[in-house]
Amino acid sequence: MTDSSYRIQGATGEWEVVIGLEVHAQVTSKAKLFSGAATEFGAEPNTQVSLVDAALPGMLPVLNGECIRQAVRTGMALEAKINRWSRFDRKNYFYADLPQGYQISQLYHPLVGEGEIRILLDEKDENSAKTVGIERIHVEQDAGKLMHDQHPSFSYVDLNRSGVALMEIVSKPDMRSPEEAGAYVRKLRSILRYVGSCDGNMEQGSMRADVNVSVRKPGEEFGTRTETKNVNSVRFIMQAIEYEARRQVDLIEDGGTVVQETRLFDPDKGETRSLRSKEDAHDYRYFPDPDLLPLELSDDFLEECRASLPELPDAKRRRYEQELGLSAYNASVLTAEVETARWFEELLAATGKAGPEIGKAASNWVISDLFGALNRLGKSIEESPVSPAQGAELLSLVADGTLSGTLAKQVFEIMLETGDDPAKIVEERGLKQTSDTGEIEKVIAGVLEANADKVAEYRSGKDKLFGFFVGQTMKAMGGKANPGVVNDLLKKALS
Ligand code: ADP
Ligand code: MG
Repeated sequence: MTDSSYRIQGATGEWEVVIGLEVHAQVTSKAKLFSGAATEFGAEPNTQVSLVDAALPGMLPVLNGECIRQAVRTGMALEAKINRWSRFDRKNYFYADLPQGYQISQLYHPLVGEGEIRILLDEKDENSAKTVGIERIHVEQDAGKLMHDQHPSFSYVDLNRSGVALMEIVSKPDMRSPEEAGAYVRKLRSILRYVGSCDGNMEQGSMRADVNVSVRKPGEEFGTRTETKNVNSVRFIMQAIEYEARRQVDLIEDGGTVVQETRLFDPDKGETRSLRSKEDAHDYRYFPDPDLLPLELSDDFLEECRASLPELPDAKRRRYEQELGLSAYNASVLTAEVETARWFEELLAATGKAGPEIGKAASNWVISDLFGALNRLGKSIEESPVSPAQGAELLSLVADGTLSGTLAKQVFEIMLETGDDPAKIVEERGLKQTSDTGEIEKVIAGVLEANADKVAEYRSGKDKLFGFFVGQTMKAMGGKANPGVVNDLLKKALS
């Protein structure tokens, strides 16, 4: 485990920052945590609200088992302790987007206990690994949303989000720099998306973080923390930490004290500002929700949860390195996003081959050619105009010598434009590479004749000119000569 050397320089010396994150992740489920209303993002306001979500008197919550299943699978993916007995509590507070007057959450007996997440500060370097502890994951209801800018003198409330299931994933105060926090959130998001328990969409708010920050002199006790609420991008989380740590150092060095409080991040200014002093748990008058029985999980349920977990990013990455001979970098790029790994594996399956030879060829092609093209087109891999099967066909045309690297790039460009299969393009446009020695020898003879002076120079020891002859020969053949054959025949002709 490496300790990052991130330090804040103050007037009195160096300070260390201590970070703990509470990530709210919206559970992927068709219905809400305690009602049958739909959860889809972007619907017309108040079209996905049941009587339970609107908190009409007498309505009773009914637990949605799928939300529990997703949270348990998430806990398992984070190597966490799953609590077979847990319980829901009411957290009482008033807010206009919370018609119940309380949020159903889990304070005393959360569904999931301690776990961990392994992060890499440098994707290419296993030595940069660090483990961040997970304190707990509990399940709770989301609130609705207030809309203040629809009318000059009224606020509106949209209850579509009211009652949607959230997992609150609480880390230990184990992070020591904005970079570590960024790596943690990216890794957590990646795992959630592999598991399929949260779509990880931070822009739509389905994943957001409360950022706890304190500062201390290295080796001293933890300082008092502040909590910056609802930060919704990795970049903002890192900015909030940087700003907040600096603010606390300056405050302490000026003779002040940090007060435990809730703060807000202003993305336009890159600053945090005070919202309210921190409430303690007793302010919420938590008590067990009398409408809900304690939750007890059966062996069968736990087994099904475990059996349904996919191969996770770390395991996949190790397998790509060992079975497919990929570099640490390529393996990490291809496994970071579940969609990329899926596409890559479909491509491999379509080649019908296994092992390092195809692994390396396929990974290099995906990372340089396909990603390059998608970048240019501004498309995600799921929107790729070329299918995995077409990619596989292109790779096999290279492997069997039909296409040289250069020709393969040309064919790929045409595939992107037309959507045609590579074999068809090769056939129709005559882009086949030729290994016909007779034809190549004829062209070489012409090149040597036209460059008699250079031939003489080469023969008198100017070896570097060899590349020039290769280039001329390839050019004369419109890029279609097999480079290996050209090399061999040129050497023979020049010796
Ligand atoms: P609550 O926010 O309900 O009071 P906790 O006390 O469990 O909950 O802490 C919440 C978060 O604050 C956790 O992610 C934890 O890692 C982090 N945290 C606790 N102490 C500190 C500290 N001194 N500095 C930074 N983060 C901290
Ligand atoms: Mg908190």
